[in-house]
Amino acid sequence: MNLHEYQGKELLSSFGVRIQRGIVAQSADEAVEAAKKLTEETGTGWHVIKAQVHAGGRGKGGGVKLAKNLDEVKELAGQIIGMNLITPQTSAEGKKVHQVLVAEDVYYPGDNEPEEYYMSVLLNRGAGKNMIMYSTEGGMDIEQVAEETPHLIFTEEIDPALGLLPFQARRVAFNLGLSGTAFKEMTKFVTALYTAYVKSDASLFEINPVLKTSDDKIMAVDSKVTLDGNALFRHKDLAELRDTREENPIEVEAGELGLNYVDLDGNVGCMVNGAGLAMATMDLIKQAGGDPANFLDVGGTADAARVEAAFNIILKDPNVKAILINIFGGIVRCDRVAQGVIDAYKNIGNISVPIIVRLQGTNADIAKELIDNSGLDVLSATEFQEAADKVQEVLS
Ligand code: GDP
Ligand code: MN
Repeated sequence: MNLHEYQGKELLSSFGVRIQRGIVAQSADEAVEAAKKLTEETGTGWHVIKAQVHAGGRGKGGGVKLAKNLDEVKELAGQIIGMNLITPQTSAEGKKVHQVLVAEDVYYPGDNEPEEYYMSVLLNRGAGKNMIMYSTEGGMDIEQVAEETPHLIFTEEIDPALGLLPFQARRVAFNLGLSGTAFKEMTKFVTALYTAYVKSDASLFEINPVLKTSDDKIMAVDSKVTLDGNALFRHKDLAELRDTREENPIEVEAGELGLNYVDLDGNVGCMVNGAGLAMATMDLIKQAGGDPANFLDVGGTADAARVEAAFNIILKDPNVKAILINIFGGIVRCDRVAQGVIDAYKNIGNISVPIIVRLQGTNADIAKELIDNSGLDVLSATEFQEAADKVQEVLS
């Protein structure tokens, strides 16, 4: 689950990571109130207005603007809220902005010495360890740094049983070229950051830029936080931060129905039981020359109600031109699934795309008979390859 920048910063701050202070606002008027409050608290005269969407590269898309007075706060917040923000990380349609973060300007006017660093904390699966990746080249795309100046990217691997050791925190500060107060500030920053990562069961923190001000403060100016969805049951407070407006609406609805659904770009809708079979089905569709429109695992109990729910979800995707149902009846009996498909088909009524059904396992023969005699526009297949070929036939 992804957090907004402002939520990520609050999380970091609660673990003692210094952040650029800010207040979230839903309207231009709220933004002005937020700016006034920030000025009282921090003494800042200038404010940055930052679009809150689940995508990076907002600066490049015009979603981060500097306001030098309250009139500009109002004007810029008004422009950004409601805009369709297109960045290198959004789709071509962009993302609708519902709220902005009004933040203190931490790049002091006239300051020619602010330094921007890159820092992320993530899991290195290959090493079986956590990892801090950091660079002196902050504020720009890390992918570009990796390509052009890979020697400026450093990594620190952390044994999860030992945690971040003091010498490792010092090495980070050293490699970033820091000394004196800034060195100490950086070791504190990275230690608190790592603690926050572990304690919140995160799978990714990306802070770009980490800022060093001319008075040697180290702080997070941006935050990208991804939490491990499987650990959210341990963090009720964090689970509440989910913003479903930022997610694919069909995926949200499927999740509510208990279906494991991932939207994809192709035109062949898939309904499969078991994640492994679902992956194999997608492979086979590809091999036969097609393109899967989704991944969908209906789970072990493929009864009529679930099949109907799955149909409805698949049909919400306007790109779907054919549906392949591939169910293995191990625990569930194929004839019950077949009946489920037939019932769902009749209930929904106006399915206009061809459907190919492959049922294998217990009572597969009875299931095939049910499908073939149903009088519906549903093709049955026995073999996997045969099913994929039939999909291609109906599409061409
Ligand atoms: P991103 O473009 O989505 O990664 O958003 P960021 O939060 O990283 O902001 C983009 C850029 O805005 C940063 O790289 C900074 O250069 C700039 N920026 C962020 N905060 C401030 C600020 O307080 N003052 C000024 N002048 N610029 C800022
Ligand atoms: Mn950034």
